[in-house]
Amino acid sequence: MGSSVDEMLLRIMIVKALRMLYSRGLISGLSGNVSARLPGRDAMIITPSGMHKAVVKPADLLVVSFTGEVLSGEGKPSIEWRAHREVYVARQDAVAVVHAHSPYTLAVARDLLECEYPEVRLGVGKLSLVPALEPGSPELAEAIGREFKSGANAVIMAKHGVIACGKDPLHAEARIEALEEVAKVIWLNKILRSVDALT
Ligand SMILES: [Zn+2]
Repeated sequence: MGSSVDEMLLRIMIVKALRMLYSRGLISGLSGNVSARLPGRDAMIITPSGMHKAVVKPADLLVVSFTGEVLSGEGKPSIEWRAHREVYVARQDAVAVVHAHSPYTLAVARDLLECEYPEVRLGVGKLSLVPALEPGSPELAEAIGREFKSGANAVIMAKHGVIACGKDPLHAEARIEALEEVAKVIWLNKILRSVDALT
């Protein structure tokens, strides 16, 4: 485990972000992942694969190079490490990446893309969508990288989840939360309209 203060702080923030995501129902024990770019290096700190996300500790996180080599830590990196890497390569301003399986965000993905809620415009910025591609595949990672390169700060992965960048892990996590909050309002509006139509 690295000794720098920056790395320790990033590890603590990643774990905090994972617990927030889990407590809000945005990831399950085995889904989702969070990473942070190691300052000045082509490497990231990322969640391990197969470990329950609510109990991951700072020391459980892996350091993985942008070529996929595990530089420190035990086990395999998250299946979506390539997607995280593509975000860091596409965007020098991205210090952290969060991937979640937010249920409402997925359920109303198309409406979210078209909505004009200030929370999305101001809190998230540009939002994009990529088609359903195999989780963990290079194709999915490349599609995500293209969207971030074109300025998206969050990308919905059809029939899968959502991925966001940020200036630190909590910032990226907050963007995921903001999307889900608006998605719930859109969902409630849809339900109320359908009830109205029945009465
Ligand atoms: Zn996923």
